[in-house]
Amino acid sequence: MPHDILIIGGGPAGLSAAINARSRGRSVLVVSNPPAENPLWPAKRVDNYPGLPGISGAELLTALRLHAEEAGAEFCTGKVLSTAFMAGTWYVSVGSDMEVATAVILAAGVSRGKKFPGEAEFLGRGVSYCATCDGMLYRGKAVAVLGYSGTARQEADFLREIGCTVTYFDQPRHCEILGDERVESIVCDGESAAVEGVFILRPTAAPDDLFPGLAVENGYVAVDRRMATGLPGVFAAGDCTGGPLQAVKAAGEGLIAGQSAAAYVADLNRQMKKGIQTT
Ligand SMILES: Cc1cc2nc3c(=O)[nH]c(=O)nc-3n(C[C@H](O)[C@H](O)[C@H](O)COP(=O)(O)OP(=O)(O)OC[C@H]3O[C@@H](n4cnc5c(N)ncnc54)[C@H](O)[C@@H]3O)c2cc1C
Repeated sequence: MPHDILIIGGGPAGLSAAINARSRGRSVLVVSNPPAENPLWPAKRVDNYPGLPGISGAELLTALRLHAEEAGAEFCTGKVLSTAFMAGTWYVSVGSDMEVATAVILAAGVSRGKKFPGEAEFLGRGVSYCATCDGMLYRGKAVAVLGYSGTARQEADFLREIGCTVTYFDQPRHCEILGDERVESIVCDGESAAVEGVFILRPTAAPDDLFPGLAVENGYVAVDRRMATGLPGVFAAGDCTGGPLQAVKAAGEGLIAGQSAAAYVADLNRQMKKGIQTT
């Protein structure tokens, strides 16, 4: 059974969207990295969130999550890697699993960091973003892990357990991925290694990598006043749509995206019912 709405990101935008979509009676799944990996989590004081001066980032995120849980939203800890739209339904890959939804709200915050030379060219030919999904293809081989996410070391351990020889690079700044048909080596911050696979483990992906064809302006998702993107049933909210990069703006946009996605799903359901009645 597809979820009515799948939300990518469990920050202020995604959690506000979840609360407001639930208040319109829609089923909601929030897929996000662990809360402690949210950029706001370590903030000691958030002084400009209305009504809650001095609250810490962790307290604010915990309160928002509790509110969304009490509203009936479901949660899944994991990283969304890609999406595909087929026959009116969104298929969203979360690690090695697949979730299905009628509408999607992108609330993934800002994606920091540019692609490395060779990254796009060798994607699927030695470059991967998910050790648990693609690791088996590299069993018994030498691979490099570029660790930027909180779970990167665990993913490197998983690769070792299945028989890969792993060179781990902790948050390298400069990398170049080299090869001919496939990856053959990597140069990371001056250190080179002969490898057949390169796992680049970031907490976030660029929005247009997650949704091919998504309109992006200066790195931010283009939306209208309903927080609709140009893709069918895809809405966006929060830092990923642009500044001011602030929690209250994210929560406000989350409200609009949640309501708009709920209206989109209701509309589709009405159209389907009408279609069934007339046939
Ligand atoms: C140190 C610091 C202090 C700050 N202080 C303040 C302040 O005082 N006041 C204020 O208003 N704002 C502050 N901010 C800014 C505030 O944190 C952001 O504006 C706000 O968190 C944006 O909310 P969001 O929901 O859009 O994105 P985020 O809070 O960034 O949430 C996005 C979530 O989605 C997850 N995610 C991303 N990609 C994926 C994926 N592919 N799959 C699954 N999950 C994914 C991320 O890990 C993250 O948890 C601060 C930020 C920092 C870093």
